[in-house]
Amino acid sequence: MLPRLLFCCSPKLLYKPPSNQDPSEFSRMNKIKKPFWESKSLDEMNKQEWESLCDGCARCCLQKLEDIDTGDIYYTQIVCQLLDQKTGNCCQYEKRSELVPTCVSLTPEKTRELNWMPDTCAYRLLAENKPLPAWHPLISGTPDTVIAAGISIRGQAISEADVPEDEWESYITEKLI
Ligand code: SF4
Ligand code: SF4
Repeated sequence: MLPRLLFCCSPKLLYKPPSNQDPSEFSRMNKIKKPFWESKSLDEMNKQEWESLCDGCARCCLQKLEDIDTGDIYYTQIVCQLLDQKTGNCCQYEKRSELVPTCVSLTPEKTRELNWMPDTCAYRLLAENKPLPAWHPLISGTPDTVIAAGISIRGQAISEADVPEDEWESYITEKLI
């Protein structure tokens, strides 16, 4: 889980072909200029590119409950207590795996395996060969669009520190994902 934003902003460049340029050459150049999330696979990205995919929504930091009979997974409005809900960042990012053993450090392989990742998550979208949405900071150029699009959980979640675990089922929601 990567509720942290590291920007490596490479918004898609919009090219207009010079009037004397062959359209096929223009098309070839456009392919060359594709941004990294369109031109590289998840496995090919460097660390900076990889981390910049995280939009900081923090949806993955919401607690989830699994139905032991069906295996279905439900999101709750309860969020990990290490999430700073004002910034949407993990307040112990470097130590998160140590402090919260269930916190998953995403890898390309895990993005293909974890079926509970939010369907808006850039890692999941790219693993499923889907485009990034217009509100993604790499495209819009600002994290504000994540909030404006209603994707960020900021101000919508309740800390796990405030709700006993045996009451989490009452906080199951479909609204945030
Ligand atoms: S759901 Fe995906 S994009 Fe959102 S914070 Fe988690 S890793 Fe980042
Ligand atoms: S430790 Fe908690 S807040 Fe931090 S990344 Fe993991 S789930 Fe999110």
